[in-house]
Amino acid sequence: MEENCLFCKIVRGELPAEILHQDEAVTAFRDINPAAPVHVLVIPNRHTASLAEMGEADAADLGRIVAVLNQVAQTEGVAETGYRVLVNTGADAHQEVRHTHFHLLGGRALGPMLAG
Ligand code: 5GP
Ligand code: ZN
Repeated sequence: MEENCLFCKIVRGELPAEILHQDEAVTAFRDINPAAPVHVLVIPNRHTASLAEMGEADAADLGRIVAVLNQVAQTEGVAETGYRVLVNTGADAHQEVRHTHFHLLGGRALGPMLAG
């Protein structure tokens, strides 16, 4: 856990968030500035700065993240209509929060790619 990391604080309950799911490995909460009608962030509870720091050693966490992404897609009502999962990694991708997070976007036609 990183003392001053925004998303670590959400995991620890020190910063308010609309949490949709939390277990021992993963937390899912609504993005504060949604880019689509459904915009949820799914994060590993264990701090890594970006996906670049994750790998085979994190197989269990990554598997749980995929399961939670698909479960939240179901409960948010976009499992049938479709959704996009996005991970910004590093400066060129405009990663703003340096705690690995998976964006789940849906609820409208998103176009062939997100605006870049
Ligand atoms: P990034 O650009 O790093 O991939 O995305 C960071 C995301 O985190 C943005 O979509 C932003 O709206 C969201 N975000 C930033 N700060 C907070 C916060 O304090 N609470 C929540 N729920 N979302 C946040
Ligand atoms: Zn963190």
